[in-house]
Amino acid sequence: MGMSGKLMVGNWKMNGSLAANTSLLSELLSGMGGVNCLAAVCVPATHLAQAQSLLAGSALALGAQDVSAHESGAYTGEVSAAMLRDFAVRYVIVGHSERRQFHGETDTVVAHKAQRALAAGITPIVCVGESLAEHEAGQTEAVVKRQLAAVIHTNGHCISEIVVAYEPVWAIGTGLTATPEQAQAVHAVLRAQLQAATAHSQRVPILYGGSMNAGNVAGLLAQPDVDGGLIGGASLKAPDFLSMLKAASR
Ligand code: PEP
Repeated sequence: MGMSGKLMVGNWKMNGSLAANTSLLSELLSGMGGVNCLAAVCVPATHLAQAQSLLAGSALALGAQDVSAHESGAYTGEVSAAMLRDFAVRYVIVGHSERRQFHGETDTVVAHKAQRALAAGITPIVCVGESLAEHEAGQTEAVVKRQLAAVIHTNGHCISEIVVAYEPVWAIGTGLTATPEQAQAVHAVLRAQLQAATAHSQRVPILYGGSMNAGNVAGLLAQPDVDGGLIGGASLKAPDFLSMLKAASR
C-alpha cells in the first residue's frame, strides 16, 4: 500500500489555447468543492504563465509535460527545470511514451530529466510502460523494471521524491484500459523494486494511466498499489475530470 490520499494528474498533451484554458480551468476550479485528493494539470510550456496565474492559491497544482536533461545553454527549443521552477511548477512528466516513441527518449535521457527536475525541487512523474508487442510477448515486467531501474540508478536515494506512472502504451488514447487486476500486478512489481531501492518507498505514489475515465476510475483506484491516475483525454473535459477527482476523494 502506498501513500494515503490519491494523486490525480491531468496531461493536456498538445491541446489548449488561451481562450480554451480559461474556460477549462475556471470550470475545474469552480467544481472543486468536495475534492480532497491531490490534483494537478500538466499544461503545454507556452501556457505555464497563464495557468500559474489562474491556479494561484487554488487546490489544483501546476505541472509541465517535459523538461530538458540539460541544465542550460545551447539546446534550442528546450525548456530547463529552472525555467519551470520560475513558474512555480510542482510536477513534470518525464519519459511519457509519446516522448520515448516520437522523440527518441532513452531510459538514460529520462533518468537525467528526472534528475534535473529533482535538483530544481520539482517532482518528476516518471512514466513507464510496455508497448502492445512487448505486452503480447510477455515482456511487461521486464520492460517496466528496466525503465525504472535507469531512474533509480541515476537518482539513488532521491527516488523517494519521485512519482511513478504505469502507462501501458497499448492503453493510451486507445479506449483500452488495463483491468484493475492487470494494473495492480504491475504496480506491485514496481512497488517491490522501489522498496529494494529506498527505505522510503511508501511515499512514492504509483499512478495508473491509459484511457482512465469516469467509468473505470473507481475500480482502478480500489487496488492497493494504485495511488492515483495520469489522465489524458478525460482531463480536457471538466465534468469528466471533476468526477474522477471526486471518485479519488472518498
Ligand atoms: C496519457 O497520455 O498519459 C494518458 C493516459 O492518455 P489517455 O488518458 O488519453 O489514454
